[in-house]
Amino acid sequence: MILDRRVALVTGGSRGIGRAIAEALAAAGARVAVNYRSSAAAAEEVVAGIRDRGGEAVAIQADVADGEQATRLVEQAAEAFGGRLDILVNNAGITRDSLILRMRPEQWDEVLDTNLRSLFFTCKAAARVMLRQRSGRIINIASVVGLTGNAGQANYVAAKAGVVGLTKALARELGSRGITVNAIAPGLIATDMTGELAPEHRDALARRIALGRLGTPEDVAHAAVFLASDGAAYITGQVLVVDGGLSLG
Ligand code: NAP
Repeated sequence: MILDRRVALVTGGSRGIGRAIAEALAAAGARVAVNYRSSAAAAEEVVAGIRDRGGEAVAIQADVADGEQATRLVEQAAEAFGGRLDILVNNAGITRDSLILRMRPEQWDEVLDTNLRSLFFTCKAAARVMLRQRSGRIINIASVVGLTGNAGQANYVAAKAGVVGLTKALARELGSRGITVNAIAPGLIATDMTGELAPEHRDALARRIALGRLGTPEDVAHAAVFLASDGAAYITGQVLVVDGGLSLG
């Protein structure tokens, strides 16, 4: 068990990539807090599945776009497992796609608040606990489009590029206290989020993937388990691209 009894919080752990990460961390031995915003039944299903396999997990409702809720979420996750927090995975995210001329300010704000501003609160609250422990792992789920850009997603791309910048800044700030901060940049992963893409847009993207298939949430989860493990102790401030070669050009 490479993550034996370590305490992890996964934001947006009820579905998609977050669910796969929560399950993979638990399978590696971690005790996991599974955050969700509205999918209570799905989150309870993730928790029940982990417990059935002999693991420990709790579900915690919080809207991470709300700063107070995001802060309380981190505190509740640590309280649930004896005051520790070893691994924070900032995964919760949304899209509100539109070309810039048609994009409404609410679409910009919703995406920035959920995908970037939330990390200010969760990272700050987690850093408090991790600095005391003098150890911790923060793993931020970015996106390849935050590195390459993408038409129709100015809000999302700006947020994900911000996540990459925040990751590097915090890696420098927290490194001397044994805390690593890294990002994972997934490509096109088969989840509810990409299910909403127009089929022709999804197919056009899929044709550019060197490995010839969409990624699975588990493909991303393996990378998260690695970054959380002792094997990644000397890796910080990095962006691990998990995209099957989509961003190769
Ligand atoms: P998804 O299937 O739509 O799942 C999103 C998850 O985030 C759900 O668990 C949802 O909770 C949660 N969430 C959304 N807003 C929230 C909020 N305000 N507070 C708390 N939880 C919230 O998405 P996904 O495809 O797994 O994406 C997960 C992450 O990977 C996102 O950050 C996304 O940007 C990133 N990503 C995805 C892809 C891809 O191709 N799918 C590619 C690159 C990056 P509820 O169930 O309660 O709604």
